[in-house]
Amino acid sequence: MSQDGVCKLNGHPSENGGAMKTRPLLNRRLDGLGTTIFAEMSALATATGAINLGQGFPDTDGPESVREAAVRALRDGRGNQYPPGPGVPELRQAIADHQHRFYGLSLDPDTEVLVTTGATEAIAATMLALLEPGDEVIAFEPFYDSYAACIAMAGAQRVPLTLRAPDFRPDLDELRALITPRTRLLLLNTPHNPTGTVLAPDELSGIAALAVEHDLLVVTDEVYEHLVFTGAHHPIAALPGMRERTVSISSSGKTFSYTGWKIGWVTGDAPLVAAVRAAKQYLTFVSGGPFQYAIAEALALPDAFFTGFREDMRRKRDLLAEGLRTAGFRVYEPEGTYFITTDISPFGDEDAYTFCRALPERCGVAAVPNSVFYDDPEAGRSQVRFTFCKRDDVLRDAVERLARLG
Ligand code: PMP
Ligand code: GLN
Repeated sequence: MSQDGVCKLNGHPSENGGAMKTRPLLNRRLDGLGTTIFAEMSALATATGAINLGQGFPDTDGPESVREAAVRALRDGRGNQYPPGPGVPELRQAIADHQHRFYGLSLDPDTEVLVTTGATEAIAATMLALLEPGDEVIAFEPFYDSYAACIAMAGAQRVPLTLRAPDFRPDLDELRALITPRTRLLLLNTPHNPTGTVLAPDELSGIAALAVEHDLLVVTDEVYEHLVFTGAHHPIAALPGMRERTVSISSSGKTFSYTGWKIGWVTGDAPLVAAVRAAKQYLTFVSGGPFQYAIAEALALPDAFFTGFREDMRRKRDLLAEGLRTAGFRVYEPEGTYFITTDISPFGDEDAYTFCRALPERCGVAAVPNSVFYDDPEAGRSQVRFTFCKRDDVLRDAVERLARLG
């Protein structure tokens, strides 16, 4: 462990000792994935005292009533011992109710819902459950970093479908051309981190048609489902022919601003959920007990909570977007998520990673380079992501600091 608390797994041979001298500790599948960019940039922000607009976590906790529900569960001894593997019945029911309330989807809470340790575990368990070594997975690029890692851990191959600036829309002809006999799965993310793209109904039906035509599985990461500013969130699972081939993933972290609780979930047809559950059993067995009861209450909050949260975030998006533009960034306005992707070319020819390494020293703000989310770093060479899930005064301070970049 280094001083910044970041695990440097690719240690020098002399640190590895004995027989391991001849071989790096980190296996080939995870080569290059030793430290996540979020950990790296957050450590840099902490070390320099910079405002952290890199890693996406709110600096204000979610609803008080939800926190109190967790405290109550802890005190009442609900979930303090291993809860049921698929999740506590109250939460599974609440997830099923949520899917019906917002999207008209009907799910059996006993067989079609699985509670996971965040969406992160849901992604890992899904990839480990559904993929054979050598399978190909088509995913939007830039991709959320855990996709690359989980596909790799499953021994499968990622195949990027590049979302290109300035619009970051998927090209369905390109998608068709990427499908081979080895393609097993399409991995979607809408709203999309980091670009903020929200898949439109015609894009979703085009993707669904290809999935049906080629008999592909679809895994859809919808953790930002309640952060859509333009249009609406449409789960692909609701489209004809998709239910039986779609694993939907979401999480309480973003929607309820308790990212540290790590309560996520998987929904889908019973055989798909059973497959994911098989893998999940051997990753964590079960997920954090008392928090599950609290999230069950959170999912039943009135509509006013969900619209209020979204409108608050929209205001923050506009505040940060305006500030970034004034500071000289090219801003790609996101339709959803709580991230803004920018282009840093107006500041010179530096690549995004070098820019982000230096940014805290230059002006006291930390951000994340999108280049690391591309297989071809050139494609995202000048893209930098900022989050706006921070207090208004923090965003204003950050914007003032960024204005000094000049
Ligand atoms: N998917 C995406 C697209 C994300 O941005 C994140 C970060 N919240 C996750 C998955 C992981 O979610 P969780 O914190 O629930 O594990
Ligand atoms: N999802 C958040 C982001 O994209 C945090 C991810 C993480 O820390 N693994 O910033």
